[in-house]
Amino acid sequence: MKNIRNFCIIAHIDHGKSTLADRLLDSTHSVTSREKQEQLLDSMDLERERGITIKSHAIQMAYTYEGQEYILNLIDTPGHVDFSYEVSRSIAACEGALLIVDAAQSIQAQTISNLYLALENDLEIIPVLNKVDLPSANPEEVTDDIVDLLGCDASDVIPASAKTGLGIDEILKAIIERVPAPKGNPDAPLRALVFDSVYNPFRGVETYFRVFDGSIKKNQQIKFVATGKNYGADEIGTLKLKQFPRNEIKAGDVGYLITGIKDAREVKVGDTITDAEKPTTAVISGFEDVKPMVFAGIYPVDTEEYEDLRASMEKLQLNDASLVFQPESSAALGFGFRCGFLGMLHLEIIQERLEREFDMTVITTVPNVSYHAYTTKNREEAIIVSNPSDLPEPSTLDRVEEPYIKASIITKADFVGPVMGLCIEKRGEITNQTYLTTERVELSFDMPLAEIVFDFYDRLKTVSKGYASFDYSPIGMRKSKLVKVDVLLNANTVDALSALIHQDNAYHIGKKMCEKLKELIPRQQFDIPIQAAIGAKIIARETVKALRKDVTAKCYGGDISRKRKLLEKQKKGKKRMRQVGNVEIPQEAFMAVLKLN
Ligand code: GDP
Ligand code: MG
Repeated sequence: MKNIRNFCIIAHIDHGKSTLADRLLDSTHSVTSREKQEQLLDSMDLERERGITIKSHAIQMAYTYEGQEYILNLIDTPGHVDFSYEVSRSIAACEGALLIVDAAQSIQAQTISNLYLALENDLEIIPVLNKVDLPSANPEEVTDDIVDLLGCDASDVIPASAKTGLGIDEILKAIIERVPAPKGNPDAPLRALVFDSVYNPFRGVETYFRVFDGSIKKNQQIKFVATGKNYGADEIGTLKLKQFPRNEIKAGDVGYLITGIKDAREVKVGDTITDAEKPTTAVISGFEDVKPMVFAGIYPVDTEEYEDLRASMEKLQLNDASLVFQPESSAALGFGFRCGFLGMLHLEIIQERLEREFDMTVITTVPNVSYHAYTTKNREEAIIVSNPSDLPEPSTLDRVEEPYIKASIITKADFVGPVMGLCIEKRGEITNQTYLTTERVELSFDMPLAEIVFDFYDRLKTVSKGYASFDYSPIGMRKSKLVKVDVLLNANTVDALSALIHQDNAYHIGKKMCEKLKELIPRQQFDIPIQAAIGAKIIARETVKALRKDVTAKCYGGDISRKRKLLEKQKKGKKRMRQVGNVEIPQEAFMAVLKLN
């Protein structure tokens, strides 16, 4: 145990976490050149394309220092707030963390939120000043910022460049010298933390764990505490770029486990693995069931594909346990599913995977958060509203609560005004303002989660000219004055376009929605009135004017093949459209409420 070091890398996005991880693997010869690809740790295609690490992984390196052989387990953490619970569990599996700060960008919101998580778990923090090779680097100033933040000595900060390789040896030495060796009782009953799982279509779920006490042996009968299920440990091993099966993994070490589980929901991040016969009495604390934060309806474009969609969703859920769904029906869209996601990025990923991996064409409805409604009949028990159309009759309502978050934004002093303006527009209440330096300010707000879902990131980027970073964490439910705004097309309510909106903004947003829908809904043979309503009261109206001529009229009726081609073309264009009553609605229209500016 004394020669093991477990560490993670925490950083704001783009500060160089993946590049630095690759460098560490290179320097410890953990990767052969044939296996070498850029940014090894980001293995999913989607991750690679988006340049973000969605799922955390672990990798083991060997390093000789002062004549002794050390095992370094690098536990990678996802880089997006949607996955912050997984970040917290990865951090809980480590004794130390490299805190990477870009020497040109300095400390950003995610740097701080990750740091807090690491400090809560008592990790030893090794600050690394990355990208010192950049001409725009400000090493002295940024080192001062880090010293202020951590209360460490300037000499503790390691200047590095993941690009040139500068500082990589110092980092490896610091990991050995400064990160404590794991503690734990090798003779106690098995106690291991699940910090990640990956779905493998051939082998089932691969569970990544960190052993705290005891050891896990091949073929041992083990128990997952939270799910209460027992399994045989068919295969265990350590992770390099490939998996290396082993017979035993002991206290302090990190490994993978294969039990033949075929459903990702049976392996819960944060769960404790123990021995089925001699279970531990000290379950690892901090386990939480993942809770979806954002909900949306997913419907097949072609109503006949409902069963295919169900099968696809079920398969997706087998490898992404954080996706939840249940059947729902919409008067407008027919049969589909109400799905819960960790956040907007997760929603996009699921939508993309349905299309790419399952060849489904789907319509996604307006995302919303989950509200708590209380009726005058029962003021104590919340009705969970994850679809606006489930909101009880306003006359029966006692109150509605919505989820709030604590938002932290770091920006330049010049942009404090516009950033505050935006947050206040988004119903935020400022709770704190701290000058980190004379130039950089941290602003804290309490805000409704719903306002973040609705294009907050893009607006923040615009008002701050890109000089703002943002992070948030949930702080519970708060009472709010919400009304349901309905949309009527051709005098029919389209339930899939309804949204819950704060009373004070309802008129304004209703009007904007009508304007936006007018842009998005294609003209047809007849006028289409678009109306927004609260209950029976119409609050806004627009009209999509009728088309003058049939497009096929241009073909003079003569050239059949040309006419057919034109019709085919029209059909293709329809791919992402849904016929609701006699009106065709394109996918963009369902998202219109998110893009109203
Ligand atoms: P991550 O989001 O924290 O994983 O960041 P990446 O490792 O993907 O790096 C973001 C960008 O910064 C990439 O374009 C890297 O090539 C670049 N980068 C990373 N480290 C350095 C460095 O030390 N110097 C320079 N000049 N660029 C770097
Ligand atoms: Mg990365």
